[in-house]
Amino acid sequence: MEYQRILEEIHAALKDVPQKGMVASYIPELRKIDADRFGLYLLTLDKQEFGTGHFDTPFSIQSISKVLSLARALEFVGTDLWERVDVEPSGNPFNFLTLLELERGIPRNPFINAGALVVSDVLLSHFDNPKEDFLNYVRELAQDGSICYNEAVAASEKATGYRNAAAANLLKAFGNMHNKVEDVLDFYFYQCSLSMSCRQLATTFYMFANSGKNAGGKTFISPSQVKRINAVMLTCGFYDEAGEFAFEVGLPGKSGVGGGIVAVHPGKYCISTWAPGLNEKGNSLLGMQALEMFTTKTGYSIF
Ligand code: GLN
Repeated sequence: MEYQRILEEIHAALKDVPQKGMVASYIPELRKIDADRFGLYLLTLDKQEFGTGHFDTPFSIQSISKVLSLARALEFVGTDLWERVDVEPSGNPFNFLTLLELERGIPRNPFINAGALVVSDVLLSHFDNPKEDFLNYVRELAQDGSICYNEAVAASEKATGYRNAAAANLLKAFGNMHNKVEDVLDFYFYQCSLSMSCRQLATTFYMFANSGKNAGGKTFISPSQVKRINAVMLTCGFYDEAGEFAFEVGLPGKSGVGGGIVAVHPGKYCISTWAPGLNEKGNSLLGMQALEMFTTKTGYSIF
């Protein structure tokens, strides 16, 4: 398969389209990002790499980090986690609050913000220095000590994160948050501020295509946990656009409001895109189109 040529064709076809979506503005620091950035990167299971555009430029991975915090939490709480967070698509935006009230503080899934806050709470209960532990975990997965939080992005979200504060307070009121609300929010904002390039992101997600082993061959999670996390990515990774992503792209994946997307084909490859302009559902507009073109051109989707 001529992967490099295919990535270049996709990049050339999309980079100058007039409709690039809107850069997220509700986190003030993210407004500064140049909407013309566009990177694609592919890492195959046999560790061949292909990239085009801005695939080596770090960006804010935002909600993509929720997959990594989930993987880390499952190491400690195992299946007990599913007593506190469900695994159903919400059919609503990532920051929607009504369902949380109706369903008495049990978030629909770990990838909407309320669910990710419960996962953050689990990590806070298990570590004295959760921010440090989580960063080390991600660096180990990626075998890359240069990955960092972006303090300015974390501070910017902390200053404006009223909906997340509302979700955290509701969780606390329903007894589904064990630590202090402000400590959980602080960890969550740092987690979301992780900065990675497309190359680092695909490398970090290698274990989800490789039965739980990272690119260095170390086991982090079991094949059964990989199955479950990939299933939740497929059904909930794009919020109220999860059906559309499965329909167009046909891979488990996760998006973030920084404009990144990562998707995996178990046993075959990890692919990542970065294009900061978002569609009205908060997912990268060009990223979704690029991945649709990739699985259509190669014929490699999980379906
Ligand atoms: N940190 C962002 C928030 O909580 C993450 C949202 C996203 O990337 N979809 O609003």
